[in-house]
Amino acid sequence: MAESDAHKRYEFKRQLEELRSKKGRGTELISLYIPQDKQIFDVVAQLRDEHGQAANIKSKITKTNVQSALESLMSRLRYFPRSPKRGVILFTGAVDIGGNKTDLQSFTVEPPEPLISYKYHCDSAFYLEPLEDMLTDKMTYGLLVLDRREATVGLLKGKHIETRDHMTSSVPGKQRKGGQSAHRFQQLRLIAIHDFYKRIGNAASKVFMTVDHKDLEAVLIGGPSPTKEEFHDGEFLHHELEKKILGLFDVSYTDESGLFELVDNAADALINLDVIKEKKYMERFLKKLVGDNGLAAYGEEEVRQNLQMGSVEVLLLSEDLRRERLNTKCTQCGYADAVTVTRRPGEDKPELAPCKKCKGTVKVTDSTDVVDELSTLADQMSTQIVFISTDFEEGAQLMNAFGGMAAILRYKTSV
Ligand code: ZN
Repeated sequence: MAESDAHKRYEFKRQLEELRSKKGRGTELISLYIPQDKQIFDVVAQLRDEHGQAANIKSKITKTNVQSALESLMSRLRYFPRSPKRGVILFTGAVDIGGNKTDLQSFTVEPPEPLISYKYHCDSAFYLEPLEDMLTDKMTYGLLVLDRREATVGLLKGKHIETRDHMTSSVPGKQRKGGQSAHRFQQLRLIAIHDFYKRIGNAASKVFMTVDHKDLEAVLIGGPSPTKEEFHDGEFLHHELEKKILGLFDVSYTDESGLFELVDNAADALINLDVIKEKKYMERFLKKLVGDNGLAAYGEEEVRQNLQMGSVEVLLLSEDLRRERLNTKCTQCGYADAVTVTRRPGEDKPELAPCKKCKGTVKVTDSTDVVDELSTLADQMSTQIVFISTDFEEGAQLMNAFGGMAAILRYKTSV
């Protein structure tokens, strides 16, 4: 995943987190998924219809809230003569803000991938499943399932499986016909099996080579034993692809349904693949840290200063990092300062410490997300950014012991 993609993914994840934190008191939150090819006119017509039906809602408060949300949506759709390229999602509703109060809030999300289906959804929470699906890794995997009679080739892109090729063999069964010598029969059978493996290898290589080399993460092979092992040992795939074989998995079907079975059975191996990559970066950082050669930095201040100097080779950011950098100004003496605060969706703004100079009250002049701030610095200095999940020990350690950020340095600095 390219650096800017990693950052976009983080932004998107954070946006989802905020939407997920919103709750309605009744079924008052509306989610509207509009694909590019959907006529806005039709959407408005449905909303008008829903508005009419909402008149039957028994609770007066719910009725008012739903109708206000629908009115707000209809007026926002005036600004969309047509849906954007990848479609658009509008969220609107009376959000519970505590203290027996609600607030009509609206959010617009442009999806990172094209929307496929139109959806109108009204519930006590926003409907986020299609967006959450888009968060899953977009790496491509080569899929191959085979036995001696049939083989299917496909690709796994994100969560989507595409069947690309299917072939059957003329390998004779184990029973020979009368009149044939047992030895001759066995020989012909082995030749036919070998030929079929060769055909499979060529067809699969052709399909997998259509994927950009750096985007093809791994190749998964499935089938009954010992067929898949035989195929693997014979090295029938292109040699570049042989290196990418992640593993052999038992599956009982070798048609299209076998591809789905293969992905299910390889799920653990696939999850580990992501973790392994992140783990390698964390190990590199920890090794430098223990090595005490000054090539590791951690904690916000140290990392920021190194970034500004351009000394950071790799910036490691925890996916759980939720911090804001606030620029402040004293209301009495005008002293300007900057502080970092932790803030999660739904939490109140934290109280600010009094002015360092005169103990007066300070106010926030502007704020930036710390990840955005550091990513911008990193981009300017050609620093590689890697986001680290907390799903494994060293990843959790980055968040808990190193303040959620660490750096592998190009050279030693005096920071
Ligand atoms: Zn002051």
